[in-house]
Amino acid sequence: MDRRDFIRGLAATTAIFALPGRGGAVAPVSDPALAAFIRGMPKSEYHVHLEGTLEAEMKFALAKRNGMNLPFADVAAMKASYIYHDLPSFLAIYYDGMKVLQKEPDFYDLAYAYLAKAASQNVIYAEMFFDPQEHLKRGVAMADMIGGITRARGDAEAKLGIRSQLILCFVRDHSAQSAMAALDAALPFKADLVGVGLDSDEAGNPPEKFREHFAKARANGLKVTAHCDVDQTDTLRNIRTVLTDLKVDRIDHGGNIVQSPELVAIAKARGIYFTVCPTFSGTLRRTEKVPVDVVRAMMDAGLKVTISSDDPAYMGSEYVDDVLIRAVERSQLTRAELIAIARNGFEAAWLPETDQSAMLARLDAYVKAA
Ligand SMILES: [Zn+2]
Repeated sequence: MDRRDFIRGLAATTAIFALPGRGGAVAPVSDPALAAFIRGMPKSEYHVHLEGTLEAEMKFALAKRNGMNLPFADVAAMKASYIYHDLPSFLAIYYDGMKVLQKEPDFYDLAYAYLAKAASQNVIYAEMFFDPQEHLKRGVAMADMIGGITRARGDAEAKLGIRSQLILCFVRDHSAQSAMAALDAALPFKADLVGVGLDSDEAGNPPEKFREHFAKARANGLKVTAHCDVDQTDTLRNIRTVLTDLKVDRIDHGGNIVQSPELVAIAKARGIYFTVCPTFSGTLRRTEKVPVDVVRAMMDAGLKVTISSDDPAYMGSEYVDDVLIRAVERSQLTRAELIAIARNGFEAAWLPETDQSAMLARLDAYVKAA
């Protein structure tokens, strides 16, 4: 999860949250034809936290259903509270909001709402994160979390044509024991999972803390990915660890890799895909004299970039179309680069090659007809 980048970016982006009626708004775009091309394009998404898609309206609906009182007069007041000034204030609101997720139908509604939104933007395939440790500690059963999400995945595929899979994320700032307990509780449902990931606060929680978890997940047939958030302490060390030691299948964010030609070469040799979320982690700052555009730099380095929305409910309700449009404009992506990113999005899928090929064929047909 992008919490640190998110907070770091707030100074520059508070206006997003301050604008009235911003939720669901269309990103500013100077080329309407290109925006229309993006909106119509068959797409994928690999870096979206289901709890980060919990919109204020749904929080109120679930709170009502579960007999909870929320400390906000209405949706507008809740959205107005999405202005954070430091990590504790962000986490307090983020985790507090998550508490409305209590029962199987809550997880169903959350996942179905995201999938419906994604399908409306021509996302045809998504791999979604969830953070079970946050729910287990409130007494929610793993069966209710995975059961509700899986049921929503089935309905969304049948009714809306969007295919999806689920990735269990370890919350890295909780204990290693807590993460292992979550994995053990999830393994009876491993047929409904495609992989495990690693998110939340990286400081003091390096990836090797989860070496045993990743090994156990792999032994159970699951894929492995890990967040390497932008501009974290020891970020290049941690990127090296996930690439060469833990040997992840994918990296979430990972933009600082452009500062190390050696690591770039390793990632390219291993064919690693990066799930980049430029909404709030769009620039590198810490070790560069001038800000570096992450997407531009990664594309120029020849890395395999995909683009996702991360925690859209907390990021101005910008889902993948708006994020892509913003990325094209800010990073000055050419049409060919945009299409390459879309192709990466299907080649990165944790699906059989025949399924990848079928989705790529849909993209190629769209591009040819456009
Ligand atoms: Zn994330």
